Amino acid sequence: MADDIFDLIIKGEIPCYKVYEDDDVLAFLDISQVTPGHTLLVPKAHVNDIFDYDEQIAEKVLLKLPKLARAIKASNSKITGINIQSNNGPSAGQTVIHSHWHLIPRFDDDNLNS
Ligand code: ADP
Repeated sequence: MADDIFDLIIKGEIPCYKVYEDDDVLAFLDISQVTPGHTLLVPKAHVNDIFDYDEQIAEKVLLKLPKLARAIKASNSKITGINIQSNNGPSAGQTVIHSHWHLIPRFDDDNLNS
C-alpha cells in the first residue's frame, strides 16, 4: 500500500511540528489550526480508522489522550477546555485515511460555539 501523508510524516520525509513521540504514536500540530495548539495524535502503525482498532492498538493510542490533553492545556494558561474528535470514514469527514485524533484547545473567547 502506498504511504499516506501521515506515514511520510512518521518517517520524517515530510516535516511536522512535533508535540510528542514514543514507539507507538506521534503527535504533531495540525497544518490547519482550528485553534492555536490544534494537535493530531496518530498511531505509527498504519490503521485506517477506529473500525480497525484491536485492544492492543486502542491501548497504545487512546491511553495517550489524557496525558497529551494535560500537556497541551499546560502549554498555554488561556486554554480552558479541549475538544477531542476523530473522523472515521469519508462519510464522517475523514480525509486522511490513517487513523488520527484531533485535540483542539478551547479558549473562553474562541467563538467556536456561536
Ligand atoms: P478533515 O480534513 O476534514 O479535518 P480529517 O479528520 O481526516 O479530516 O483530518 C485530517 C487533518 O490532517 C486535517 O485537519 C488537516 O489539516 C491535517 N493535515 C493534512 N496534512 C497535514 C500535514 N502535512 N501536516 C499536519 N496536518 C495535516
